[in-house]
Amino acid sequence: MSGGYPDGAIDSLPRNQLRALQSERLASIVRWAYDRSEFYTRRFDDYGINPNTIQSVDDVATLPFTVKGDFREHYPLGMLAVPREQLVRVQVSSGTRGTLTVVGYTKRDIATWAEVCARSLALAGTRPGDIVQNAFSYGLFTGGLGLHYGAERLGAAVIPASGGNTLRQVTLLRDLGATVLCCTPSYALIIAEVLEREGVTADELALRVGVLGAEPWSEEIRVEIEERLGIHAIDIYGLSEVIGPGVACECAHARDGLHLMEDHFLAEVINPATGELVPDGDFGELVLTTLSKEAMPVIRYRTGDISAIIDAPCDCGRTHRRIARLRGRLDDMIVLHGVNVYPSEVEATLLEFDEVAPFYQIILDRDSGRETIQVQAEITPQYAGSATASDMAILTNQITRILKSRFDLTMGVRLLKPGELGRMENDKAVRIVDRRTG
Ligand SMILES: [Zn+2]
Repeated sequence: MSGGYPDGAIDSLPRNQLRALQSERLASIVRWAYDRSEFYTRRFDDYGINPNTIQSVDDVATLPFTVKGDFREHYPLGMLAVPREQLVRVQVSSGTRGTLTVVGYTKRDIATWAEVCARSLALAGTRPGDIVQNAFSYGLFTGGLGLHYGAERLGAAVIPASGGNTLRQVTLLRDLGATVLCCTPSYALIIAEVLEREGVTADELALRVGVLGAEPWSEEIRVEIEERLGIHAIDIYGLSEVIGPGVACECAHARDGLHLMEDHFLAEVINPATGELVPDGDFGELVLTTLSKEAMPVIRYRTGDISAIIDAPCDCGRTHRRIARLRGRLDDMIVLHGVNVYPSEVEATLLEFDEVAPFYQIILDRDSGRETIQVQAEITPQYAGSATASDMAILTNQITRILKSRFDLTMGVRLLKPGELGRMENDKAVRIVDRRTG
């Protein structure tokens, strides 16, 4: 088995033992939440749930869901299951409409978080002694601090670069010789762009692995990042309501789905419309239960992320089940004229064209009452240097036609000059601009 996490035995615990551990932890976390969190006392009472009846992982489906709105309604710390004085950290994430979600951690929660991040980094191929340039934003967002403590826990040296200031990122990559880069996939592409502009080639860097996440990204983007940075790009998953990054991560060996840290998180996949469980392998909304979190346990949290459970054993030898790479978020799904479209699917189509750069935006608008969708994508600098206006018109037509045939939807296509969309250095890429209301 690859990977060098010192206590790695947990990753290959036999399935029956792992399941027994999950059942034991589920029973105790449900009891813990009911006894200590006013929110869960009321919620379980409302549903007539006796926490003592929850004895095994099979019983989890009898419990009610927790949703994002619960965090909002009990803002800021109404879901706490420990006295406020036991918190050692608070992280905050902001929603689309400026609403804040506050998550608290005890000392033990912080240790758990560092452990799952260390195990994720090890899965990705990071080893003690590696140099990790962490370009996830530090601060209220969980990406920066989560992977920071994970890398230290693993025994790697961290460069806490945080997001932004890409020119300095490039200088640090070259001069300090980072072997592992952590950031969002869209930021990895911005770094690649600046490297090329500065005339630094991938051979001059020591980079070997990219641990990338916090937004859905297609296989086509992965290929692009790997070629341009000369790395193995690994997908990591997590969300602040559950703990932060480190909930699941691909193994460098198979890169076929993300291993869940099943000793700390219990996963289910449901049909988002009905709430019913879907069979293993079918896509639906990922639902997570924290099995060990003290300060703010969440029971059956509806993540809004679209994935599937992969039950088959992985070639790497680890026993923890995997989730499929995220197809997108329910909130990001565009429903137009009865057709469902995920931005990641549009992205995959665009990147089949060598002339198109991995920078794009989808604009939703209204024209005389009718909803419209337009895809704006930058062309590559190479293509911009040689293409004539008529080449561009032909390319625009080709893309329009293929989008129409794939999605059965007429999308406007507008090709932009390199850099025209601007670059978001500090945050996740903005893929959808919705001008349909207001
Ligand atoms: Zn594996």
